Amino acid sequence: MARYTDAVCRQCRRENQKLFLKGDRCYSEKCPVTKRGTAPGQHGSGRKKTGEYGLQLREKQKAKRTYGVLEKQFRHYFELAEREKGVTGENMLALLERRLDNVVYRVGFGASRAQSRQLVNHGHIRVNGKRVDIASFIVKPGDVITLREKTQEMDVFKAMREGSSKLVPAWLSFDAANLTATVVSIPKREEIDLAIAEHLIVELYSK
Ligand code: SF4
Repeated sequence: MARYTDAVCRQCRRENQKLFLKGDRCYSEKCPVTKRGTAPGQHGSGRKKTGEYGLQLREKQKAKRTYGVLEKQFRHYFELAEREKGVTGENMLALLERRLDNVVYRVGFGASRAQSRQLVNHGHIRVNGKRVDIASFIVKPGDVITLREKTQEMDVFKAMREGSSKLVPAWLSFDAANLTATVVSIPKREEIDLAIAEHLIVELYSK
């Protein structure tokens, strides 16, 4: 599967916004967005695109980078969202949120979406009791997401059972004692805490 392999923090610096791609480091003083605050490259602190197309492009890049998907797949989410009832931009974000790697990240099994994707790809995740190792798998209301039994014995997950768990969005519920997440509903826009103007992405793709 194709994936982005360049330096991760460059993506946040390009957007001049924290996209939280690296787990704990993103909350520390080491985060380059906090430290440097300029776009990457020799002319990073120079002229910035501010035209209509530039704004639309930046919103699309932000969303793609946040969820760690490449152009072709991202466009596919847009096309699926267009076919659904409702607001296309919101439908698209709801689809991205329902990716299994994102759910694994949202409940705190992985510190970042990239780490969560690895957990999925390496067969650590069960959906309704069955192994699912496809990061782009879309969960639906009623689905129950757990860890493989052997994985639950890892120190990090034992600690998760006993410690305070991450605050999960309202469309998910999480039982920390049993390391079990349940999809309660389809995510609404206000339940997705992302500073992305999705209508600009729709405008860009609708040209
Ligand atoms: Fe982005 Fe995290 Fe790197 Fe900061 S540390 S630039 S938020 S990936």
